[in-house]
Amino acid sequence: MATTKPIICTLCNGEMQLYTGPRYNKKFSGGLIIGGIFATCFWIGAVLGIPLIVMGLYMTGSKRHLWVCKDCNTAIERVEINTKG
Ligand SMILES: [Zn+2]
Repeated sequence: MATTKPIICTLCNGEMQLYTGPRYNKKFSGGLIIGGIFATCFWIGAVLGIPLIVMGLYMTGSKRHLWVCKDCNTAIERVEINTKG
């Protein structure tokens, strides 16, 4: 289960809020998909186009979790570390 406990800011002891947003620039990942489709339809073909589309879709779906302080706007990133295995 994910922890929903508030995190306290180390700088000002304020409460931190969870912020979830896209990890990558939407225009950039969208451009990759469009470029991939374009390449698949025209000149270079699927060899270059399909990897571009896959990469663009991956980047669009990738999210980042940040904790942002309500008081001083300090942000820390929550990184999930997989220690299994
Ligand atoms: Zn703070």
